[in-house]
Amino acid sequence: MSTRETPSGTAEMNLTRHCPLVSCGREVKRGERIATASAPGLGDIHAPCAGTVEHVDPYRIRIAIEDGETVSPEVLDGQSGPGLLARLRELGADVPACDQVDTLIINAMDEEPGIRSRRTLMADRLDILQAGADALVRGYVPVDTILAVPGGVRESLPGMEVKVLSDQYPQTLDPLVAKAVTGIEMPDNTLVVGLETVFHAGLIMDTGLPVMETMVTVGNSARLITLGTPVGEILTNDGETIRDGDRIVMGGVLRGIAAASPGQGVDRSTTALSLVRNPAPVAVDAACVGCGECVRHCPARLDPSMITSYAEFGQYAKAEAEAVDACFECGLCGFFCIARRPMLQYIRLAKRELAKAKAQLGEVTQP
Ligand code: SF4
Ligand code: SF4
Repeated sequence: MSTRETPSGTAEMNLTRHCPLVSCGREVKRGERIATASAPGLGDIHAPCAGTVEHVDPYRIRIAIEDGETVSPEVLDGQSGPGLLARLRELGADVPACDQVDTLIINAMDEEPGIRSRRTLMADRLDILQAGADALVRGYVPVDTILAVPGGVRESLPGMEVKVLSDQYPQTLDPLVAKAVTGIEMPDNTLVVGLETVFHAGLIMDTGLPVMETMVTVGNSARLITLGTPVGEILTNDGETIRDGDRIVMGGVLRGIAAASPGQGVDRSTTALSLVRNPAPVAVDAACVGCGECVRHCPARLDPSMITSYAEFGQYAKAEAEAVDACFECGLCGFFCIARRPMLQYIRLAKRELAKAKAQLGEVTQP
């Protein structure tokens, strides 16, 4: 059974699409809500430790940890339907917003090579996963509930049909799992939820408290880490020395994002941490040479060279016309790009800018 690792001096919570609810100097309880989500399907953010808020900007809230109280737990046992899903989001689970779910697929396949978080959750925290899965079933009321696992996983969740699927990347990503399970590309009324979201929902149901920890792969194993724990502190405690020019990658090698600084905290989407020594060459804004490698390898059958060229020059509407929304961010175009263009970064930029523009027009979006 994994034990939880906690930050020593400060906890830093990343704000992605969240609005802060606290200002500097404010004392917070452990579990107090400190930021509210501004996009559907995204959970709110809570203080993972008691303390005093020492920094707030649009991207982060940092808390100096002190002894203090924890918020009172809630009882959610009798709740169901959209009300339960909304409450789970308020308590910090990233529960997708979906009007009708006929088929609920729980994706228990670790998405990228080298990540072991979901496999470890299945082995160590089946009780919490069961509580989370029960809550999601009560919330979405699907006709079918399916657990997608890789070969070799013996554990399952009671009451669920189990499908053993290929774990060869990118078959582990949600859109391809949905296709493998249903036999249909982009099936209607089918929702795929990652196992960490089920775990977070289960923690809420089990403790009555907001989500304050997650399972993260560090090195060759996965362990529970308190949200907000600085990524540099985790690696340093593991004996790593972080030098100038090194990058700390949050997530896998194909889809991960470099931490802005060693002080950046683990968040709910952090499935893995790794240190990349002074990467050279770093991806640069090199020109596309038209080799076609990205097109050949795109599992979504898109033209990543066109999408990223439009994004590079701020032509986001044209990127949208090239179906950038259908990209499921596998990162293979960037991996195979011989010009080393930052493909995934351009794609994420285009999606973010399109979502921002739609939000300004009052359209509901979920990037
Ligand atoms: S990240 Fe690149 S290769 Fe992967 S689906 Fe998107 S466009 Fe295609
Ligand atoms: S792989 Fe890179 S260089 Fe080749 S076509 Fe795609 S974007 Fe251009």
